[in-house]
Amino acid sequence: MPQGKLQAPRGTADVLPEEAARRRELGRICEELLGRAGYGQFESPVFEDTDLFARGVGESTDIVQKEMFTFEDKGGRSLTLRPEGTAGACRAYVQHGMHKLPQPVRLWYLGPFFRHEAPQAGRFRQFAQAGAEAIGSDDPSLDAELILLLGQLLEQAGTRKMRLRLSSLGSADTRAAYLDELRAYLRAREGELSDEVRARLDSNPLRAFDADHHGTRAVMAEAPTLLDRLEPEDADHFAEVRALLDEAGLAYELDPSLVRGLDYYTRTVFEFESDELGAQSGLGGGGRYDGLVERLGGPPTPAVGWAAGIERILLASDVRPRDEQRPVFIAFADGADARDGFRLVRSLRAAGLAAEMEQAGRSLKGQLKHGDRMGARSVVIIGGGGEGIEVKDMETGDQVRVGGAAQAVELLLAEASE
Ligand code: AMP
Repeated sequence: MPQGKLQAPRGTADVLPEEAARRRELGRICEELLGRAGYGQFESPVFEDTDLFARGVGESTDIVQKEMFTFEDKGGRSLTLRPEGTAGACRAYVQHGMHKLPQPVRLWYLGPFFRHEAPQAGRFRQFAQAGAEAIGSDDPSLDAELILLLGQLLEQAGTRKMRLRLSSLGSADTRAAYLDELRAYLRAREGELSDEVRARLDSNPLRAFDADHHGTRAVMAEAPTLLDRLEPEDADHFAEVRALLDEAGLAYELDPSLVRGLDYYTRTVFEFESDELGAQSGLGGGGRYDGLVERLGGPPTPAVGWAAGIERILLASDVRPRDEQRPVFIAFADGADARDGFRLVRSLRAAGLAAEMEQAGRSLKGQLKHGDRMGARSVVIIGGGGEGIEVKDMETGDQVRVGGAAQAVELLLAEASE
C-alpha cells in the first residue's frame, strides 16, 4: 500500500460544517438581496469549451495565458474549468435566445471557479464567487443598481474596512484611440518600465497601471488617463452612474488607473476592496461589457455585472449563521432499550424537530455532558425498566417526567413553538 499523506490539492480547501454555515448565510443574503431586485438564480456548467474563455475573457489576459485548468476529454475536445462566470452567462444568453425575453435579463449565480494561480492568503485555485449580470440594456441606472447591490451585500455581511474604486473605460473606439496614445507614451519612456510591462506593451498596455515596479509607477503617475479622453456620450453615461451613486449616498474613489483583469470591459468599471485583506484586497468587482455577447456570436447587446469572492468576504467580515434550531438529544439510562430511542428520534424528526440520540456508548453522565456541549435545547432520558421518560430543559435545568414517547414529542413540540 502506498504510504503518502493524502491532502486536498494545492490551492484548494475543505469547507467544514461551521464554515459551510457562514457560506450558507452569505448565499441567503445574495438570494434575498438579488431576488428582490429581480435577479433570477442561474447555473452554468463548471467546465466549458476552452474557446469560450479564449474569446470571452481575452487572449491577452493573465487568466487565459497562465491560469486556466485546461484538459482534453476522451473525444479530444479542449475543455476548461471555468475561471469566471460572465462568459458562461453570455454564452447561455446567446444559446437560449434570451434576447427575445424582456430586457434586461437579470441573472445571479454562486459556485466554484478555478484559476491556476500561486496560492497565498485569500488566493486559491478553487474559490467560490457570487455574481450578478444584467444583460440587454445600457441604462446607467443598471450600472448603479449593480454597484449598490454589491455594496449592500458586503455591508450586510458585515465586511470591515471596505472601499469602492470606480472608473470608466469608455467605448471600444475611444479605448482603442487611447490605447494607441498610451502605447506611444510608454514607448517613449520604455527604458524606465519593468520587463513584464514592456513585454505586454502592445497586447495590453493598460496593465502598466497595475504594476508594482517602482520605475513603472513613476511613469504611470504622469501617463494620460482614459477618463480625460472619454467621448461625450460615455462621459454623460458615467456622470449619470456617479449621480445615482451620489444620491444613494455610496462613497467611492475615482481611480483612472483601475484596470480589471478581463479584456471585455467597456464604460463603467468598479472594485470593492478591504484593507483587512492584505495583498489580495479585492472583495469583488465588475463593470460594463457591451461587446461581449456579440463577440460570442449573439446580437449586439449591452450588459453589466460583477463577481465577488466568497472566501475573501468571509475573511473580511463577521457574517454569522442565522439561529438554527437547537436539537433535542436522547440519552439512555442503564438498561434502556436503544430501539425506543431510535423510534423517538424518528418521531421527533418527523414532527419537524432537530433530534439526535446517543450512539457512542457514553455513560449517562457523559451523555448529559455531550448534550450540553452540542447545544441541545432539551435532553430526553429514556429510563431502564419502563418507568417513563424524563425531559430535561437544558436552559433552566427543570426536569419533567412524562408517561411515554407520544407525550414527550408533544411536550417538546410545544416547547419548540414557544
Ligand atoms: P475577478 O473575476 O477576477 O474580477 O474576481 C472577482 C473576485 O473574485 C475578486 O475580487 C476576489 O474576491 C475573487 N477571486 C478572484 N480570484 C480569486 C482566487 N484565485 N482566490 C480567491 N478569490 C478570488
